[in-house]
Amino acid sequence: MVHGKYKVPYTDLAGQYRKLKKDIFAAMEKVFASGDFILRDEVRCFEKAMASFLGVDYIIGVNSGTDALYLSLLTAGIHHGDEVITVSHTFVATVAVIIHCGALPVFVDISKDYNMDTSQIENAITPRTRAIIAVHLNGRLCNMDKISELAKKHHLIVIEDAAQALGASFKGKQAGSFGLTGCFSVHPLKNLSAAGDGGFISTNNKDLAEKITLLRNHGQKSKEELLYFGFNSRLDNLQAAILNVKLPYLDGWIKRRRAVAQMYHHRLSEISQLHIPAFSEETHYDVYSSYVIRAEKRDRLAEYLRKNGIEVFIHWPCALHLQKNLNLCRCSLPETEKASKEVLSLPINAEIEDKQVNFTADCIYNFYKYK
Ligand SMILES: *Cc1c(COP(=O)(O)O)cnc(C)c1O
Repeated sequence: MVHGKYKVPYTDLAGQYRKLKKDIFAAMEKVFASGDFILRDEVRCFEKAMASFLGVDYIIGVNSGTDALYLSLLTAGIHHGDEVITVSHTFVATVAVIIHCGALPVFVDISKDYNMDTSQIENAITPRTRAIIAVHLNGRLCNMDKISELAKKHHLIVIEDAAQALGASFKGKQAGSFGLTGCFSVHPLKNLSAAGDGGFISTNNKDLAEKITLLRNHGQKSKEELLYFGFNSRLDNLQAAILNVKLPYLDGWIKRRRAVAQMYHHRLSEISQLHIPAFSEETHYDVYSSYVIRAEKRDRLAEYLRKNGIEVFIHWPCALHLQKNLNLCRCSLPETEKASKEVLSLPINAEIEDKQVNFTADCIYNFYKYK
């Protein structure tokens, strides 16, 4: 079905909604009829279901993926003067939260699969290094064996930015189950989405889970007793109710994304001007929250596809360390810088039809004049 401006929209949340409308309505009706808007049964039910999905002990719903990262760093004790190793090829929130803690982001370059090049981590470690934020980009996990091993050796905390990796795994272990915490987002562009902002934190650490649970709700242990100055960072009960409707479908949606990725791989692999994201899955299970190709004449290809009714995005055209208003390090990250000039995210979602995938592939063929 064709909606809005694009023949092939990047996401089709309206299409997803049409399929779930009855159940979403019933869930919302229950919340409105009971007036249960803040931290009620739906939030607890979601936290329990998600803990079982990920195979972790604790899930704490918060108001965004950004706050999931921020509360994780805060409770891990990251503060002024600390250094946190991460990548520049990520969404700005990963780095913003390091700055908000008063710490210094230290960047390592990426590998061909767009994730942290773990062979560069050790060089980036100094006496001030306290943590590594491993960003699992585009639905593929970082090499968590290597990161966990280095973290252990150098006594570093690992925080996983798993905002794009819900349901992905490494050696059979889910994203968000490796680090001190895993940080997730249910923003509408993520694999599992709320009707607006939301997020959650996964952890197996009981003390940390308790502290984050208090911090997200103003540090109130009870109405009588305040333990900390906290935050207003709760996952809305209404959002949790919607997530509870959607969660049972997540595995199926991921399977469809993987099938779409296979179709793209198949159709695009012979175009020599492209690199496709068909990475080894010997140790990985990728969920393709984005399908990112590297393309010659990227900007012209993007324009051509949009003109043909295909909605594409560039994540991201300028690496964070080169954003001049942010005053980050003047380091050189060749692979990151090269990627930002070549990456292009093609439409992928659980609702996309085969013929839309084929049409997108046909247009890419035509652009490079393969036919
Ligand atoms: C989406 C995203 C975030 C932030 O999540 P929000 O819920 O939008 O705050 C952080 N890191 C990465 C890699 C993301 O993709």
